[in-house]
Amino acid sequence: MAERLTTEQIERYSRQIMVPDLGGKAQMRLCQSRVLVIGAGGLGSPAAFYLAAAGIGTLGIVDADQVALSNLQRQILHATGDIGRPKVESAKATLTALNPDVEVKTYPVRFDHSNAEAIAAGFDFIVDGSDNFDSKFLVNDIAVKLGIAFSHAGIVRLQGQVMTVVPGKSACYRCLFRTPPPPEEILSCQAAGILGAVAGTIGTIQATEAIKYLAGFEDGLLTDRLLIYDAKMMRFREVEVRRDPQCFACGAAT
Ligand SMILES: [Zn+2]
Repeated sequence: MAERLTTEQIERYSRQIMVPDLGGKAQMRLCQSRVLVIGAGGLGSPAAFYLAAAGIGTLGIVDADQVALSNLQRQILHATGDIGRPKVESAKATLTALNPDVEVKTYPVRFDHSNAEAIAAGFDFIVDGSDNFDSKFLVNDIAVKLGIAFSHAGIVRLQGQVMTVVPGKSACYRCLFRTPPPPEEILSCQAAGILGAVAGTIGTIQATEAIKYLAGFEDGLLTDRLLIYDAKMMRFREVEVRRDPQCFACGAAT
């Protein structure tokens, strides 16, 4: 593995290397980091875009779907010409065109109990851009088990929520919600709608948290608090989240 940045890398990343909280060492860490993005959709698109632009060394993209016309309003990794193409292929082409330095690993599968641990192992951070509760709980449980920090997020209509979990240090998603809600309470993007720019805001926060975590920001992470975004009233608020000692995923009994 390279020990120092190339002249081209220094120029490409110069505007973020200049940021006093980052710098060359942090950039080197980003270039050696591996981030897994679950879902190349409304959240995964902006997250993966900014992670690739920032020079994350390896991006894993998990998605079993093909690009559909109704995806394009928010899933900005994909273009009209990609309709019918596997999302992971379209994502890889877009991200590689943006930054050929990034190795994009594709997983054209649904992230489920049979493959989650094998896929996630070896990644340094997970961006959960999945669109269903089963996947969100699975990402949480696998990440906690493997000790991988991750960003949880959910979006619907004009609202979003996002939280960072550092296993062993902060509250996890199951500390907040023990089990998935009953199906009749679930509003999905498919049924309820979503404004693309709302997904963009939340996915971009997820990328920011991944970069901060990998660059070594300990104190400023979005841990032990759920950030709730109300785009209609253009307000952000936070809900404090405490670690639950009885948590099924990260509690004392596990
Ligand atoms: Zn927990």
